[in-house]
Amino acid sequence: MKTNLARIQSDLETLSKFNSSPGQGLTRFSLTPEDRQAREYLREELIKLNLEIYEDAAGTLFGRKAGTEDHLPPIMIGSHFDSVKNGGNFDGPAGVFMGLEIMRVLVENNIKTKYPIEFVAMIEEEGGRFGGGVFGSRAMVGLVDYAQLQRNKDADDISMAQAFEDFGFDPKKIDTAKRNPEDIRAFIELHIEQGPVLESKKKDVGIVDFIVGIMELKIVLSGRPDHAGTTPMDMRADALSVAAKVIAEIDSYPPLENNGTVATVGVLNIQPGAANIVPGEVSFTIDIRSKDYSSIQNVKKKILSSLDAQVAKSAVTAEVIELLDVKPVEMDPTIIDLFKKHAEKCGFSYEMMMSGAGHDAMIMGAITPVGLIFVPSKDGRSHCPEEWTDYDDLQKGIELILEAIIELGDEVK
Ligand SMILES: [Zn+2]
Repeated sequence: MKTNLARIQSDLETLSKFNSSPGQGLTRFSLTPEDRQAREYLREELIKLNLEIYEDAAGTLFGRKAGTEDHLPPIMIGSHFDSVKNGGNFDGPAGVFMGLEIMRVLVENNIKTKYPIEFVAMIEEEGGRFGGGVFGSRAMVGLVDYAQLQRNKDADDISMAQAFEDFGFDPKKIDTAKRNPEDIRAFIELHIEQGPVLESKKKDVGIVDFIVGIMELKIVLSGRPDHAGTTPMDMRADALSVAAKVIAEIDSYPPLENNGTVATVGVLNIQPGAANIVPGEVSFTIDIRSKDYSSIQNVKKKILSSLDAQVAKSAVTAEVIELLDVKPVEMDPTIIDLFKKHAEKCGFSYEMMMSGAGHDAMIMGAITPVGLIFVPSKDGRSHCPEEWTDYDDLQKGIELILEAIIELGDEVK
């Protein structure tokens, strides 16, 4: 392999030290001293490669290797280097070091491509400090403005605009981070799977074909809180009884779509919430995800019609609130084919999969062809201190993207 395993491991271990919660997983929020340390490390590594280094107004760090036809738009490779609170060392950095290691191999081996190649390291993908998330990519797509930076505040009531200013960026220039479709040839990301599929199927890499669409609903059922001992069963307006019947059916709908669609009730609130009171109000959330938007609609329709039927049989009323409606994003078929071809050439086993979580690639898909490679997560764990990917598994993902990039970038021999 052209990539260097020891170097990838050392990168990951070094970055993991820039952590505000040592001993309790990794916490590296955006625009903090830990962000500064990580950024400096990345910058120093890019300087060694003689790349053109710059930052955009959203705090994204770039390292550009010129193309032999340098007027062409660059292929961007990378991910994010912020983390959730008390998370792991791999979510984000695995993709950032994919970018860095590929730049090193290209420079060291004097590999020339017609298209420029740019290393990309973004912040606030997790939204850990300011909420929202996928910030660097949203800024590149033009979905962030100064008013939002003033509005978004951290737990200490510091606005994102203030934090950018304190860090040395000019938040009023946030609009300048916006790119147009003609400015980027492609965006390619590597990410840990954050699920158990690759490990359980013993596959080297995952080639993502879709990032799922997400529909999030909140259902509020209003009945009447009454005495649990003195109110006869046929005279109750029990909101939980209705909710339970609706919820009990939900897991039967997604398998009928036969395409990996999933639905989850993750929040259930019962009011007043006492053992001796009939539940007067119940609210619950439903999170539906699928690579097929019509499957999301089908599952939603079935849930709502079961809700209507149960409500009609009761003295309870229902309100449905739509919290989120994000359409699935398709990865670029040409890039998928490149990944397949080079996985076969490299002798890596692969699994075609959809991504059940959102990533920067999902946002970048609005302006440029995107590709996303997954590497296995031990026990499927993520967003926790136990998060782990074997370094040689990570190396295979990086090697695959390297080979694909050399072809996509149109190597000049
Ligand atoms: Zn991530």
